[in-house]
Amino acid sequence: MRIDIATLFPDMCESVLSESIIGRARKAGYIEVNCHNIRDYTLDKHRRVDDVPYGGGRGMVMQADPIYRCWEAVCAQTEEKPHTIYMSPKGKTLTQQRAVELLKIPRLFLLCGHYEGIDQRILNTIIDEEISIGDYVLTGGELPALVLTDVIARMCEGVLPESVCFEDESHFSGLLEYPHYTRPEIWHDMAVPSVLLSGHHKNIADWRFAQSLEITKEKRPDLYDAYIDKI
Ligand code: SAM
Repeated sequence: MRIDIATLFPDMCESVLSESIIGRARKAGYIEVNCHNIRDYTLDKHRRVDDVPYGGGRGMVMQADPIYRCWEAVCAQTEEKPHTIYMSPKGKTLTQQRAVELLKIPRLFLLCGHYEGIDQRILNTIIDEEISIGDYVLTGGELPALVLTDVIARMCEGVLPESVCFEDESHFSGLLEYPHYTRPEIWHDMAVPSVLLSGHHKNIADWRFAQSLEITKEKRPDLYDAYIDKI
């Protein structure tokens, strides 16, 4: 899997993507993530990449041309054109289910906007899909692109020890995950549920599933109803 991120702030992305599980997965070659500085593709002698909006109003708009040139340069690096996603508060909200679908696409190009946004003409030209990470507005698309990269990368083969590591977690099956406990057995007079100390695998699995159902019903009745409708 290869993900290319086009941004005005590549160092911001690199600093996150070089750490922890994703950083190790990149080093080990389980996933390739490249950050591209859109500014490197401007033809402006002052390296300008934005301008005032036509029609007036506050803020600056990112120009189409440097983005297009960046996208073309990335496209030229492989035979297959990447599925191109604009991180945008106007997009469909990211879900685990959509991330699982995107995992099957070998090449993704994530475009990060900044300031007021991006010239609509580039969106009409290269974008296959717009994805939002929630109904709020951030200063730029870098955090959303990092969120999307993280969600996908941790499901790539080899990144986590086994697929059960993410299949067993909240949202994958439509339910929220059961609670976890670790040592000590008693902490501040609170004991670990005895079934978890029993060593009886089936009873533990049954207890965890029942907990998942209960927690989902309580915290996210919308997800619970959808799960029950599906089974
Ligand atoms: N003027 C735009 C609007 O009202 O829809 C918001 C622009 S925002 C300040 C700058 C950039 O941050 C956007 O171009 C987008 O790339 C990114 N962004 C902001 N909020 C986002 C969200 N919830 N999900 C994904 N990207 C977001």
